[in-house]
Amino acid sequence: MSGWDEGAVFYSDQAQFPRSGGPGGDPTADLTRHSALRKFKEFLRGFTGPTGDFPYRESLVHNRDHVTVAIEDLDAFDAELSDKIRKSPADYLPLFETAAAEVLASLRSKVAGETGEMEEPVTGDVQIFLASKENCLSMRSIGADYMSKLVKIAGIVIAASRVKAKATHVTLICKNCRSVRTVPCRPGLGGAIVPRSCDHVPQPGEEPCPLDPWIAVPDKSKYVDLQTLKLQENPEDVPTGELPRNVLLSVDRHLVQTIVPGTRLTVVGIYSVYQASAKYDESKIYLVCYLF
Ligand SMILES: [Zn+2]
Repeated sequence: MSGWDEGAVFYSDQAQFPRSGGPGGDPTADLTRHSALRKFKEFLRGFTGPTGDFPYRESLVHNRDHVTVAIEDLDAFDAELSDKIRKSPADYLPLFETAAAEVLASLRSKVAGETGEMEEPVTGDVQIFLASKENCLSMRSIGADYMSKLVKIAGIVIAASRVKAKATHVTLICKNCRSVRTVPCRPGLGGAIVPRSCDHVPQPGEEPCPLDPWIAVPDKSKYVDLQTLKLQENPEDVPTGELPRNVLLSVDRHLVQTIVPGTRLTVVGIYSVYQASAKYDESKIYLVCYLF
């Protein structure tokens, strides 16, 4: 199964994995990453639209590198799954994208099978856009309660940065034993979590690996395009006598360079913080969908 062989990606932060059962609750009642991945795949493959079609399956085969998912459809399919996406999108969205890539690979190999052609199923990257019909939040009401959650806001884009490259997976090499490890980066502007030690077991006569032995290998790491936009409150949302507020949006992959300053937008994103400098943590919204 591709996607699972990229190091300990899906298990790496299980210690912080939220337990919905709480203390004394039944931990087995919680959705594990493995079963969430399976359910995401079932959703993409089997969700039926009002006319009996399979909108996500068809969209995947047609677009190949992106699919827009209405969160209301996910609600209807599995409320627990959509709850996870709303409350911990940074954890579950990458899982959803892995599921999409795997479903696409299996669909494409099936299509190839019907024509009698042999085609190697290639797992490309699929970006998921999350659309939502719920009401927009006011920029003024977004506070600590919304941290790391899915939010929907509206405004006008007043600035767009140039396109930068952002690492999604950083390849590290141990300076002592030369063993290689790949670590994922959090979506948006977040960095990679580099382990402090190397798990190489020293052979007799070998020097044990020191603490913090990892060096990043830039040309072996994986990157995506990233752009930041500044979204300002719509004039009609600004209380009389006050200045409009704005929020930083981080967009990547297919959302990059699609919006020019002056555009009115409604966006769905993950409210998060990033360390802008050594001194300040700034908040920003990692965008998962534009809605017009
Ligand atoms: Zn080592």
